[in-house]
Amino acid sequence: MKITEVDAFQVSWTPDDTATQRSAFVIIRTDDGLEGVGEASPMQGGLASLGIIRSNLTPMLLGQDPLDHAVILDRAMHALIKLGPEGALTGALAALDIAMWDLKGKATSLPIYKLIGGAWKTALPFYASIGGNGERSPDEVLRVVEARLKQQPAAIKIRFDNPRTDLDTDIQGDIAKARAVRKLVGDAFPLAFDANNCYTVGSAIRVGRALEDLGYWWFEEPVQHYHVRAMGEVARALDITVSAGEQTYTLPALNDLISAGVRMVQPDIVKMGGVTGLLRCAALAHAHGVELVPHQTQPTVGHAANLHVVAALLQNARPVEWNDPSTRTHPLFENPLVPVDGLFHLPDRPGLGLNINRTELARRRR
Ligand code: CA
Repeated sequence: MKITEVDAFQVSWTPDDTATQRSAFVIIRTDDGLEGVGEASPMQGGLASLGIIRSNLTPMLLGQDPLDHAVILDRAMHALIKLGPEGALTGALAALDIAMWDLKGKATSLPIYKLIGGAWKTALPFYASIGGNGERSPDEVLRVVEARLKQQPAAIKIRFDNPRTDLDTDIQGDIAKARAVRKLVGDAFPLAFDANNCYTVGSAIRVGRALEDLGYWWFEEPVQHYHVRAMGEVARALDITVSAGEQTYTLPALNDLISAGVRMVQPDIVKMGGVTGLLRCAALAHAHGVELVPHQTQPTVGHAANLHVVAALLQNARPVEWNDPSTRTHPLFENPLVPVDGLFHLPDRPGLGLNINRTELARRRR
């Protein structure tokens, strides 16, 4: 099997392209008529990753056997390392890896989770990830949480999404919102708090103590992601589990985060390494006794790839992330994944298990 075409493009989140954001997809085609779909991180529409795929990576892939994906992509990462290796380059490599795993599944008529060793379970709970709470009033936060509870999530995470250049802006207000949500859902419901990197170390510890009193499950990215030692300092000072890693792009960098003291890591399948990369992260986390709860915000390709990997992990008891808004690229597929009674069911079709809707793809492709 040889790669004959690498098609990298944006897709609009709405049919008329009025949404301000787009997703970044890649379709790899082979000489035996198969095709695999992948996705890169959508930050800034994924344009930087798509450019690297078109200009630099496509020539390395044409004529290659997609079953050699790990060798091809590790070679490419090192050849292009001065383009990154963080962010745009690793997002590009992730998209290609996912597409080649999709191809591998189609070539063997097996779902990805079978190819990586089987699923511990094929119905997976999720947590509702709710962004934008920094600018909401406490009442507005509660209304949004109430709406998401109707989807029957196993847990809820409230994200604050404040500007990262303006730290510690409203600590009392943040704690008040955390308290209000706890009161709404009751003592037993699992909750997480995502600071989106907006505290200093001292403030993070103060907020973390309040979250401990409120029985929160985890406290995500309390300080700037690039302050790895500071992230570890907060993690070691608190009893609540501190998580980080969605802005970590290589295995050595993830190891640094774990060594600093972070006990839950959240690498993202469309940002670093794709299926292959997330499996390597899982091995590293498992070896250190650290929880792996992947970051995942994309509703179709990224979500399906993430489900296949998480289902195959020994420590897969944690729910998968289900972001908002959750259905923006669903029309591009005939069988998008939707939760049923609070569970996502792993597709048992070959590869990722998603069927492209050609009409909608043609309409939304940019
Ligand atoms: Ca986050």
